[in-house]
Amino acid sequence: MYNIPQGVGLGMSLLKHELEKIRQQKLVIALDGHSSSGKSTLAHNLAQLLQLNHIDTGAMYRAVTLYLLDHHIDTTSKEKVSEVLDDIDITFHREKEKCYTYLNGRKVEEEIRTMRVSDHVSAVSTISAVRRHLVKLQRKMAASESVIMDGRDIGSVVLPEADVKIFVSASLEIRTERRYKELLDKGVKITKEEVADNLAKRDHIDSNRADSPLVQADDAILLDTGALDQGQMLAEAIKIIHGKTSS
Ligand code: C5P
Repeated sequence: MYNIPQGVGLGMSLLKHELEKIRQQKLVIALDGHSSSGKSTLAHNLAQLLQLNHIDTGAMYRAVTLYLLDHHIDTTSKEKVSEVLDDIDITFHREKEKCYTYLNGRKVEEEIRTMRVSDHVSAVSTISAVRRHLVKLQRKMAASESVIMDGRDIGSVVLPEADVKIFVSASLEIRTERRYKELLDKGVKITKEEVADNLAKRDHIDSNRADSPLVQADDAILLDTGALDQGQMLAEAIKIIHGKTSS
């Protein structure tokens, strides 16, 4: 009956009643947090379990960045970047259990996760014209259906009226370990120091930019994922969602 994500061991008997109630509601969940804090995986697992639409807004900033790099557009030039925003079409298509990112009709799910894109994406995301463009798209995507949206500014800017806001975090050391292992599994040649450096730089830019910095919204609940595996993260998030929606 419940679509439990693969590899996730969950104390389902305890949760069935809560899940049933949650799934009957139209729900908007905002999930924000640091890079590699586990939020995308958590969002994916929650979407599967609760049958919500998952919108990965980081993928949208990454797709814009990929377009700029492919077209040799200076990623630091606000003017040049603003000029091409209307040429960039980003969509998500579901295949089986997973949602894939498309840029102008081309599947770019793998390409947007490369270090080439990771090295430039936070600079691109400081450009207000890019943020305005993507926030408009994100709000449109969230308008009609139950949704879980993950990013940096979802609870604070994109969907301030969200029913549930969760802020996910873990120490830089733990996030580095996770990201490093992920990249090694994909066969990427990289050192742990390079991964830590990229995460620290992105944290700094994301938290200090003038437009929509990464912040925990006042009404967001903190979920520290440092000591949690995927199943535990999911169970904790379900408890938070149940707490927020059952009153
Ligand atoms: O979530 P992910 O790490 O894939 O996001 C890539 C980058 O996109 C982040 O480091 C951040 O600079 C930017 N971003 C953002 N606002 C969002 C989502 C992502 O600025 N809502």
